[in-house]
Amino acid sequence: MEATLVRELRDTVDPGYVHDQPSEIISYSYDGTFQQRRPDLAISPASTEEVARIVQIASRERIPIIARGASSGLAGGTIPESGGIILNLARMDRILEIDAANVCVVAQAGVVTLKLQQAVEKAGLCYPPDPASSRQSTIGGNVATNAGGPRCLKYGVTRDYVIGLTVVLASGEILRLGGKITKNATGYQLMQLFVGSEGTLGIVTEAILKLAPLPRARVTAVATFPRLSAASQAVSRIMGSGILPATLELMDGTTINVVEDFLHAGLPREAEALLLLEQDGGDEAVARADVERMAEVCRSLGAAEVTIAASAAERDQLWAARRAVSAALGRLRPNKLGEDIVVPKTAIPEMIEAVREIANRYTLPIPVFGHAGDGNLHPNILFDLRDLDEVRRVESAARDIFRTAIRLGGTLSGEHGIGTLKREFLEEAQGSLAVQVSRSIKRALDPEGLLNPGKVFPTGRGTDGFLADLPTLAGATPG
Ligand SMILES: Cc1cc2nc3c(=O)[nH]c(=O)nc-3n(C[C@H](O)[C@H](O)[C@H](O)COP(=O)(O)OP(=O)(O)OC[C@H]3O[C@@H](n4cnc5c(N)ncnc54)[C@H](O)[C@@H]3O)c2cc1C
Repeated sequence: MEATLVRELRDTVDPGYVHDQPSEIISYSYDGTFQQRRPDLAISPASTEEVARIVQIASRERIPIIARGASSGLAGGTIPESGGIILNLARMDRILEIDAANVCVVAQAGVVTLKLQQAVEKAGLCYPPDPASSRQSTIGGNVATNAGGPRCLKYGVTRDYVIGLTVVLASGEILRLGGKITKNATGYQLMQLFVGSEGTLGIVTEAILKLAPLPRARVTAVATFPRLSAASQAVSRIMGSGILPATLELMDGTTINVVEDFLHAGLPREAEALLLLEQDGGDEAVARADVERMAEVCRSLGAAEVTIAASAAERDQLWAARRAVSAALGRLRPNKLGEDIVVPKTAIPEMIEAVREIANRYTLPIPVFGHAGDGNLHPNILFDLRDLDEVRRVESAARDIFRTAIRLGGTLSGEHGIGTLKREFLEEAQGSLAVQVSRSIKRALDPEGLLNPGKVFPTGRGTDGFLADLPTLAGATPG
C-alpha cells in the first residue's frame, strides 16, 4: 500500500494501531478454518467516528474492507480474498450501559461475548446467545454471523436479541437503527438486514441487545444410547412432547470416543450416541420435572443410562465433554471442515444416517454433534490438507451433506454463516431469485463491492473443486 495512504490512515487512529509489516499482518490472515491470506494492512479504530473515517478513505481509494472481531469464524469470513484492509474492531470493547429497567445492554462491537454475559449476570440479567467460542468471539462478530449456541433452542439466536445497531455504511455514513425498544413496526426493519450479513453490507460498531431474566435454576442430565437412531428419535419425541428444553445437544459415537481419548472422563465408548439435556427457569422443581420427563422419553426409547446431575459440580462435568469436542477433534486429523447444516427435527435420524453413509463412501472420519433440538448438526469432516486425494473426497462429502440437508427440507448453515466455504451452494439452498434479490440489496448498499468481497455470493466457478480455490494455512492451494 502506498506510503502516503498509510500515513493518512495513521492520522485517523492512534498510529500504533496501523500495521502493514508482513510480521505484523500475519496475525490478521486467518480464522477458525484452515484458510489463510494476508491483508495489505490492518487497522484498529477506537470509535465509530474513526471507523467512518477509515471507510471513507478506503471507499475513495476503492480498497476492500474486511471487518474482523476475534476471527473465530468457521466460514472463512475474515480471510481477505483480494487483499485490502482488515478493520479490527477488538479495541472497541466497552460495555457502554447496562439498563436494567429497559432490560437491555449497550455495547461496542469488540466486546467479548462472555464478558458481556458475565457483566449482565451481575445485574441479575442474562444474555442467552452462547456460542461455544464465547471466550473469544465478539458481539460484532456474533451479530454479523447471527451466532447461536446450545441455549438458543429455548431462547433464540443473536437476531432475536438485537434491538438497536450503529452501522457504518460503505459510503462512510453512520446509520443508527432501532433503540431501547422491543416493539417496532416503523418502516422496513433495516436493522435485521445487517444481522447475519457477514460484513458485506456494513460495519457494526455498536449494538443494543435485549436481555432476559437470569434463570435461578438449572437441571442437567445426560442420556447414553446403544443406538444412534434411538437418540435421534428421542430428540423429535422430546420436542413434540410439549417441553421446550433449554438445551438438547447430541454427540455421536465417533465424537464420544474422540472426547474420551482427550478427557478420560469415563464416557461410554460403546454408546452410539449421547444426549445432553437441560432445563432452566425460576423454579428448581419445575425444571427438574421437565428433565425427569425427558429422561423418561429417553428410557422408553432404549437409553442405556440416564444420569441427572446432583450438583453444580456434576453439571459442569457433564458439560465438560460437550465443551471439549472442538479441541478433541484436532487429535484425529490435522484439519477439519466443520459443517453447520439444519434439517427439520423429524429428519434428524435420516440426516445422521446419510452422514454415516457418506463417511463410509469417501472413507473419511465424520463425527456428528450439535444442537439437535434445533435440528442444527455439525458433521465435522476430518482430513489432512496435504493429501490432495483426501481433499477431493472432502469436497465430495461436503457436497453430498449439503445436498442431503437441502433435499430433507433443511439448509446449509444454522449459525456459522456462508463465508467462502459454502458460497458455491447458496443458489441450491436459496433458489436463484433469492440470490438475485440479495445481490440487489448488496449493490444498493455497497455499489463498488468493497465490503468483504468474495464472501457469501457464489463466484460462478461452480461447486467442483470449491475447496481447491481457497488459500490455505500451508500457503499452498490444495488441488
Ligand atoms: C471452537 C469454536 C466454537 C464455535 N462455536 C460456535 C457456536 O456454538 N455457535 C456459533 O454461532 N458459532 C460458533 N463458532 C463460530 C464463531 O465463533 C462465530 O461465528 C462468532 O460469531 C464469530 O465471532 P468473531 O468475533 O470471532 O467474528 P469474526 O470471525 O472476526 O468474523 C466473522 C464474520 O463477521 C464479520 N464481522 C465481524 N465483526 C464485524 C463487525 N463489527 N461488523 C460487520 N461485520 C463483522 C467478519 O467480516 C466475518 O465475515 C465457533 C468457533 C470456534 C472456533
